[in-house]
Amino acid sequence: MAELVYAYVSEAYGAILEGSSPSVRTNLIHLLILRISIMVLNSKPESMVLPSKTGGTVLSPPPSKTPRPFAGRRRVYQTGKPIERPAPTVNYKNLKDPAPGYGPVNLPDGKQKVRVVVIGGLEEIGRNCTLIEYGNDIILIDLGLQFPEEDMPGIDYIIPNMGYLKGKEKNIRGVIITHGHYDHIGGIPHLIPDLGYPPIYGLPITVAIIKKRQEDYKGLRPLNLHNVTMNDKIQLGKFSLEFFHLNHNIPDAMGVIIRTPEGVIIHTGDWKFDYSPVGEAPADLQKIAKIGSEGVLALLSDSTNASQPGHQISESEIGVNLEDLIAKSPGRIIIGTFSSLLSRVKQMIEMSERLGKVVALGGFSMKSNVEIAKELGYMKFNPKTLVDLKQIDSYPLNKVVIICTGAQGEKNATLMRIANGEHREVKLLEGDTVVFSSSVIPGNERTVQRLKDTLFRKGAEVIHYEMMDVHAGGHAKQEDVKLMLRLMNPKYFVPIHGNHFLLRYNGRIATSMGFPKENVFIADNGQVMEFQNGVGTLTKMKIPADYVFVDGLGVSDETNVVLRDRQVLAEDGMVVVIATIDSKTGKLIQNPDIISRGFVFLKSHKELIEDLRHRVKKLVIESDPLSWADTNYIRNKIRDYVGQFLFTKTEKRPMILPVVIQV
Ligand SMILES: [Zn+2]
Ligand SMILES: [Zn+2]
Repeated sequence: MAELVYAYVSEAYGAILEGSSPSVRTNLIHLLILRISIMVLNSKPESMVLPSKTGGTVLSPPPSKTPRPFAGRRRVYQTGKPIERPAPTVNYKNLKDPAPGYGPVNLPDGKQKVRVVVIGGLEEIGRNCTLIEYGNDIILIDLGLQFPEEDMPGIDYIIPNMGYLKGKEKNIRGVIITHGHYDHIGGIPHLIPDLGYPPIYGLPITVAIIKKRQEDYKGLRPLNLHNVTMNDKIQLGKFSLEFFHLNHNIPDAMGVIIRTPEGVIIHTGDWKFDYSPVGEAPADLQKIAKIGSEGVLALLSDSTNASQPGHQISESEIGVNLEDLIAKSPGRIIIGTFSSLLSRVKQMIEMSERLGKVVALGGFSMKSNVEIAKELGYMKFNPKTLVDLKQIDSYPLNKVVIICTGAQGEKNATLMRIANGEHREVKLLEGDTVVFSSSVIPGNERTVQRLKDTLFRKGAEVIHYEMMDVHAGGHAKQEDVKLMLRLMNPKYFVPIHGNHFLLRYNGRIATSMGFPKENVFIADNGQVMEFQNGVGTLTKMKIPADYVFVDGLGVSDETNVVLRDRQVLAEDGMVVVIATIDSKTGKLIQNPDIISRGFVFLKSHKELIEDLRHRVKKLVIESDPLSWADTNYIRNKIRDYVGQFLFTKTEKRPMILPVVIQV
C-alpha cells in the first residue's frame, strides 16, 4: 500500500516538474494528505505530521538519544531560554479579559488572595501539577505526565496545560517536585523550556532521576536543579517553603509546607505512613503534628487509595513474602516491576544477597535507577551480587534472580522480550518463576493477561501480586488519611491525585470525622481556589487545563482533530478514491482507483467496489471537469456521495479521501 501511495506521490512530483500549474500543485498537496493518512493507518507515529495550527502552543519534540516513543526526529528543537527573574514588582499589564468560552487565561489580580489551582491530577491518576499564586509570585508543585487512555490511539503521554502561564513566565519563582515518579516529573523535559527554565527543587534521589531523564533529550539546556533537605527553608517570592518526610514506594518522597501571606498550605505529594519502612525513616509524624499545632489553612492530599479501608501495608511486610518466594524457588526467578519502585528493588537485591544468589538487572531504566540509588548511598550491596545478564548461565539455576522492567506488558521491555523469546541473553526455561511485583495500570489489563498466558505456555510458573501480597501500594488508605487529618487539623481539605470518584471518597473520610462539608473542596482540573483572611472559596473560575498531548512529533493541545481521525480510522477504516483527469479534454484518463484500509476486504467485496468505481466515474463525467473552478468542488461531491453510498451498503462510516489529479 505504502509503495502504491509513494508511486502516486512521485507521479505528482513528476507532474509538478512538467506542468507546474496551480491545480497540479494543489493535487500534490492532496496526495500528501493521502500519504499521511495511510501513515496514520499504519500507526507509525514517528512518521506522522502533526498539524501545528496554534503556532505558539505546539511546544517542541525534545529529541531523544534512546529510542523513546515520542522521539521527535524532524523538528528543530525550540529555543526556550532561561529567564532573568527580577524581584517581584506589581505588573498589571499582563492581565487580560477571560478568553471567551475557555475560562480566564489571566485571572483578575490575585494580589490580596492566595490562589491554588490544581492543573492536572484531579480527574485522573497522573499529570500532577499544582499552581500557587500570590500577586506576582507563582510556584508550581510537580510537572507530571499521564499515560493515555485506550481511546487515544497513537498518543504517548498527556502533560499538564501551561496555558495560564503564558506571559507570566517571569513570575514563576520555582518548581517543587515531591518525588521521582513519572506522574510527577514526566512533564519537565516537555514543559520547562517554555516556562523559561525556572529553578527546580527536590530531594537528592528525585533530582538525580530528573537529571538522568533530561540527558535522554538532546538539545535541551541543563536544568536549573537544586537539592533540598528536610531541614531547609527556602524563600520563593512571598512564599516560604519547608518540607516534611513521608513514605511512598520510592525513597525521598516529601510533603511541602507553603507559608503564604494568607496562611499555611500543605501539599502531601504521594504518601503513605510506613512505621517500619525499608531503608528509610518512617514518616515524620512529629513534624506533621507540629505544623498542625501551628494551624493549617488548607491540606491538599493524595486520594489514590482513599477508597480502600484500613492502613496501607508496610514495605517490610512485603519483604517477608518476597524473601520466601526467592528462597524457595526451584529454578531461576524473574521479577518484573517498575524501575521507579526503588524500595522494592533495593529489598530484592539485598534479599538475594542474603540468600547467596546473584542478581541481574534487565532494562535501561532499571539499570540507571539502581545506579543512581547506589551512587547516592541509598542501596548498599556487595558489588559481586550484581552480575550482567550475559553471565547468568554460569550460575546454577536456583542461584539466579533477574529483576527487570515490563510488568505492565510494555512492548519493548525486558519481560516482554523474554516471554516472546526475543531476548538475546535470557531464554525462558521450564521451572522459571516469573513474579509480577506491581499493580496493573488501568488500560494495561489485557496486555498483561496475554503476557501471563505466554509465560505459562512456555512452562514458567507465574505469580502475581493478587495471589500473594508482593505489592504494597504506595498510597494512604482510609485510616492513614484519618491520622493525617487529625495531625494536620486543616481548616480546608482538598483531595488531589485521583479520578473524581476517588476525590469524593477522600472527601468523605473528612466529613465522616466531622469536617464541615463546605470546607472540603472537590475541584476539577483548572478550577480556581482562593484564600483570603482565613476564608477559602472554591470559585467557578477555571484556567486552561485541557489535555496537552505528546505524540510522535511533539507536543500539542490541538491534537484533537488528529485524534478524532485516528478514532474514525480505527473503527471503520478508510477509503481512498483517486480520479485522474486530462486537464485539456476533461476526460477521465483511467477508471477511478479505489483503495481501502480497515474497511472491507476488497477481494470479497468485488461487486461493491466495482459498483462504486462505476458510480464515481459517472459522477465525475457528469459534473464536466472543464467547468470546475477548482477540484475542491468535485472532491467534496465525491466525498459526500461515496460516504452516503457506502453507509447505505455497509452501515459503516469509513473516512473518505477523494483525490483528483489533473494532468
Ligand atoms: Zn508516586
Ligand atoms: Zn503519583
